[in-house]
Amino acid sequence: MTLSAYGKYGSAARKLGDAVKSGIVSHAYIIEGDSNIDKMGFARAFLQALTCREMPGEGCGKCVNCRKIADGNHEDLYVVEPDDTTAAKSGTVSIKDAAVEDLQVRLKEKPTAGEHNMAVISGGDTMTTRAQTRFLKTLEEPPEGTVIMILSENSEELLPTINSRCVNIRLYDALGEDRTEGAEEAEKILRMIMDKAYFADIRSELDNAVRSRQDAYMLLDGLESLIGSIVRGNEELSLEPDQARVSTELIEEARRDIKLGAGYNYRIRSLVLRLGEAVE
Ligand SMILES: [Zn+2]
Repeated sequence: MTLSAYGKYGSAARKLGDAVKSGIVSHAYIIEGDSNIDKMGFARAFLQALTCREMPGEGCGKCVNCRKIADGNHEDLYVVEPDDTTAAKSGTVSIKDAAVEDLQVRLKEKPTAGEHNMAVISGGDTMTTRAQTRFLKTLEEPPEGTVIMILSENSEELLPTINSRCVNIRLYDALGEDRTEGAEEAEKILRMIMDKAYFADIRSELDNAVRSRQDAYMLLDGLESLIGSIVRGNEELSLEPDQARVSTELIEEARRDIKLGAGYNYRIRSLVLRLGEAVE
């Protein structure tokens, strides 16, 4: 599947496609999503979009780079996966420290086929603390052209220092049920913000809607996806492009702060205040 097919996982596919087209690809991403989300498929589609010779930003599925990435034999793509043999020792299937070290060595070599050295670490949250600490070095000083994707079910299992050096992309089943809840709540809140409702009223709405960190993430996903939908002209609400861009940045900032340990209640309230200023 090419990148746009992953629009079923929310706005991430479009955002990353745009990043390739405008040449602002980050050197490291955390791709987070539940176990039912095909994070590896998404990562491959993104790397195809990144290296495709025919349709940059989307991937044609046919050129030599697209095919090699799909077939798993691209010479500049390194995939690290949890190793079954670790289960006997530690009781869980996790990534071996040696595999991470090996990857770090390989990423220092120059890419042979194109401009990018690419790495996908599947089950990234099973890296030991020791391996994560070592890997930080690569994230801090990535060789030019490096693109690393850490796939994770729960990025809170990754060290805050890893989180803070990666762009965090959350995938969710945009067509599934749990999504509807976040979307409805997001619309209610955004409408109140745009209508300049009293903060006390918004706050009591938030207290109802957001009772856990999970709720907070869901609201943030809902807001981000709603803003994307507004920009594409699919909603009756409207925003200037600049307002939409700033709002999306504020939402991403809030998500990152919560992941790094900020209180979700406080952080969501402060986001609402800032969104109010952004859409004025
Ligand atoms: Zn291609």
